[in-house]
Amino acid sequence: MKPLKIVHLYAQEMNIYGDNGNVLVLKKRLQWRGIDVKIEQVGVGDKIPTDTAIILGGGGQDAGQSIIASDLQQKKQTLLQMHKDGVVMLMICGMYQLFGQYFKTQKDQKIGGIGVLDAYTEAGPKRIIGNLTVSSKWGDLIGYENHSGQTFLNNDSALGTTKHGYGNNTQDGTEGANSINVFGSYLHGPLLAKSPIFADELLNRALVLNGVTNKLIDINDVIAEQARTVAKKRPR
Ligand code: GLN
Repeated sequence: MKPLKIVHLYAQEMNIYGDNGNVLVLKKRLQWRGIDVKIEQVGVGDKIPTDTAIILGGGGQDAGQSIIASDLQQKKQTLLQMHKDGVVMLMICGMYQLFGQYFKTQKDQKIGGIGVLDAYTEAGPKRIIGNLTVSSKWGDLIGYENHSGQTFLNNDSALGTTKHGYGNNTQDGTEGANSINVFGSYLHGPLLAKSPIFADELLNRALVLNGVTNKLIDINDVIAEQARTVAKKRPR
């Protein structure tokens, strides 16, 4: 099998609170199993390689989102097609918002999204900041949130429901979104370091898409488990 390709989208502009750690976690979890992986950075003006298996994007300031917004529109058709084709994507916070329909900032600026996810985001009166624990099909997902935007889902399902913190918005107790193999989430942290089961879910989906159906061999996740325990105890 040729190396599994992971694209890190807008690593310069959209990468806060350690979100690039999600790239490292997937890379290491593949390497520990002897599976070749290639990381490619795709920024403003770059093309997304056609053989991409996984795309990861992080959070950013409103200013960072404005900088990449028009370039993202150039990539819209490619990303919509990849979504339909089952490419695995995980978008955190600022990129999650722009994978939806739009993000309206506190300054009333409307930044257009690409509609891969059927959701929209509008800034609320105050920022949502704190630790976030989310109940999901893959156990509790743990991280940290810091966003002004409040996201509302239309037809997509949520990634999970909040146990601590707010997630998508202050009203409905949902967190994140999922459509086919595309996931959006407000969990910084980085999310995958403290949620190895979810990390392997993403890898399994990507491997199946690339014709590899062997179950991933188990990894000793004692340290990740310890990190989860500590993070869960942290006060808001
Ligand atoms: N700028 C966006 C907001 O405030 C996203 C923030 C983030 O990515 N942490 O909602």
